[in-house]
Amino acid sequence: MITLIKNADVYAPAALGKRDILLAGERIVRIAPDIQLTGPDVTVVDGSGLVAAPGFVDSLVHIIGGGGEGGFRTRTPELGFAETALAGVTTLIGVLGTDAVTRTLTNLLAKASALTEEGLSCYCHTGSYQIPVKTLFASVQEDLILIDKFIGVGEVAIADHRSSQPTLNELKKLAAEARVGGMLAGKGGIVSVHVGDAPEGLSLIEKLVEESDIPITQFLPTHINRNRRLFVTALDYARHGGYIDFTTSTTPELLAQGEVKCSRGLKEALAAGVPVTQITFSSDANASLPRFDSDGNFAGLGVGRISSLLDEARDAVLGEGVALADALQVITANPARALKLSQKGELAPGKDADIVLLDAGLRVQSVWARGRRLVADGALAVTPLLAS
Ligand code: ZN
Repeated sequence: MITLIKNADVYAPAALGKRDILLAGERIVRIAPDIQLTGPDVTVVDGSGLVAAPGFVDSLVHIIGGGGEGGFRTRTPELGFAETALAGVTTLIGVLGTDAVTRTLTNLLAKASALTEEGLSCYCHTGSYQIPVKTLFASVQEDLILIDKFIGVGEVAIADHRSSQPTLNELKKLAAEARVGGMLAGKGGIVSVHVGDAPEGLSLIEKLVEESDIPITQFLPTHINRNRRLFVTALDYARHGGYIDFTTSTTPELLAQGEVKCSRGLKEALAAGVPVTQITFSSDANASLPRFDSDGNFAGLGVGRISSLLDEARDAVLGEGVALADALQVITANPARALKLSQKGELAPGKDADIVLLDAGLRVQSVWARGRRLVADGALAVTPLLAS
């Protein structure tokens, strides 16, 4: 597999200008102004008028479905391969959600393997919403060391009525285990933290960091845009070196109730002096989302979508005037760095050949994942073995 993408406007995610990109096997081998290479094994793709960006990295996806909070009939379905590829997401992290009884880590690993067989790079977090967390082996540490696909723990819920109301000590012990497991396995060992609507917000993590030597970057708190109060606290947390993750899946009703739209939140955070390096977006895809009728009454549930990741980055650029390099960074280089996925999130020689071409309207035109073309002209370019 040798592919030469010619004359694309390359965002690595830093803006590099017009460049050619040479892919061989699963890697990027060269990025330069004018690469000449021909031969029967070389596929040349014209990238003129298109933006080339790293494949998107989505740090929180309910790949086996989630929900169930309104009873069994509100359980959400599994994530599909096609929708993921068409959304430009080439790296994703599967997690359990509120329900870690009927949703299991074995099922999570099987689904992650399925998405990886299709060509994506899918990893998982061990653990669960509630502490004591679910594990496959006897501990988080063993799971991280012994199972390749596990790269961290979570999402662990805090400040939420659905959490196990974890104490400072419980969270501290979990973070210490994840940290050491990650160190021994050469992985991030990141603690993904679901932050709910309760007023304590991020205070548990802040206290933990204050009174231990566990670095603030061991945590990736998510849903920080869920209400204005949490959002404001999170800006301060990020200015102190923490990562903050915005959830892109939403509904008009949630936004009307005070959720901060990601595109706007990104603009506000940058204006408030938060370094762009501290901000990530994730889709929370296939989580359940409440729906309401025109009178504001609860009318059932909807499902979070993986395509919301690019939608919010696009809205940040086209609607809020955020620089394209910044908007792309929060869905590529930043989550890759936060999760310590060193092969991901950047266009550079030696990195995995995960590439998205976007048209002038910032819509997905083509996708390569580990060197294989999954999307061409906005349509799936491969035929999955399992027909849907
Ligand atoms: Zn969550």
